[in-house]
Amino acid sequence: MNSVRVDPRRKIAQVGPGCRARDVLQETQHHELATPTGSAGDVGIPGSTLGGGIGWIRRKHGLGIDALRSVDLVTPEGELVYASPERNADLFWAVRGGGGNFSVVTNFEFDLYEVGPIVGGLGVFYPGDEAAAVLAAYDELASDAPEEVTTLALKGHVPDLPPMPDDLVGEDAVAILGCYAGDPEAGMDALQPFREISEPLLDMSEPMPYLQLHELGTMMFPEGRNYSHRSCYVDELSEELIDAIIAHADEAPSPLAGVGVWQLGGAIGDVEPDATAYPHRDAAYMLTVEANWDEGDDDANIEWARDGDDRFRRLGGYGAYGGFTGVEPRADEDVTERVYGDNSDRLAAIKARYDASNALERNVNVTPVDD
Ligand SMILES: Cc1cc2nc3c(=O)[nH]c(=O)nc-3n(C[C@H](O)[C@H](O)[C@H](O)COP(=O)(O)OP(=O)(O)OC[C@H]3O[C@@H](n4cnc5c(N)ncnc54)[C@H](O)[C@@H]3O)c2cc1C
Repeated sequence: MNSVRVDPRRKIAQVGPGCRARDVLQETQHHELATPTGSAGDVGIPGSTLGGGIGWIRRKHGLGIDALRSVDLVTPEGELVYASPERNADLFWAVRGGGGNFSVVTNFEFDLYEVGPIVGGLGVFYPGDEAAAVLAAYDELASDAPEEVTTLALKGHVPDLPPMPDDLVGEDAVAILGCYAGDPEAGMDALQPFREISEPLLDMSEPMPYLQLHELGTMMFPEGRNYSHRSCYVDELSEELIDAIIAHADEAPSPLAGVGVWQLGGAIGDVEPDATAYPHRDAAYMLTVEANWDEGDDDANIEWARDGDDRFRRLGGYGAYGGFTGVEPRADEDVTERVYGDNSDRLAAIKARYDASNALERNVNVTPVDD
């Protein structure tokens, strides 16, 4: 189930549902091609794509679902179905953002774009005590950046990874990570302003293999660690929100945790909010409360993620990404409504046609409702 078949002439890949981002990119990068995947090599293709697929080329080429041409599926009744814009179009609409609610995908067919093998890579760490000014400057630069530039700011600590100098590991910091989907030299020029916001603690920015960018993500989020990542979307990064991001990151029970500010816009917003099941097309940023911990107090870390989510919602945060809903939502939270928004009713009707008994319930679950 982890086969990847690339047709470089037509720029199309057939991808099995057992693949992770790395499996796909390893094959497509031979041909200097890529499809939008999650931003770490370990992120699974099926779960991330069906929820949206938010990766390093999102502002140039859109989400994973925007590159999806068709899917093969098995319904809970055991029926084999093919869905595309022309065949079973409702089902194809639903799987593009509606998660694993409708049927089990056995093949993904993706469009491929010219990306890599070398891209402009951004990896700069600024001192944590300058976080407010750095995030405000980041917001300004991100607002003016071309679509080729996709970035993520992360308030937390310098991670303990091989490229980091020992004396910096564990330092309070704001990292700005990013990718330029285009000519690497032009990319380094476009990324340069993000490297000059202040005096960096560390700057690892350089032209780098597109695959390597994803392996940095894998190293930052190794298997075996505990994760509860929550999310909401915001239309602007107000001063109040920046203060809240910093305060919340500083209160994390684990030094491995952080708060992320994912730059959106560009090609994501070129698609209408009801054109696929993924509704949050117009947001400027996705905020992620990333509880990461090796061992210790699970409750405190899970609660910290919930509290951060609440805090940002009080300051204008809305919705949620299906891939980052955290573990153990509070009883009064309507996660389904947050993730699917105005597309919820149409999803409920499609769910009733394909999975009326809700056999596929281990997901951001849609209750079947006959229309
Ligand atoms: C460290 C970390 C980093 C992440 N980074 C990103 C990122 O950069 N971008 C991003 O978009 N997301 C990211 N995510 C979130 C990611 O989208 C979700 O965790 C997603 O569920 C992963 O998909 P999977 O296939 O590995 O998951 P799985 O646990 O295998 O599946 C999750 C769900 O997907 C559905 N599903 C799985 N396979 C199928 C199938 N064949 N057919 C139908 N439904 C299926 C099921 O509902 C299942 O419960 C990250 C998560 C973590 C923990």
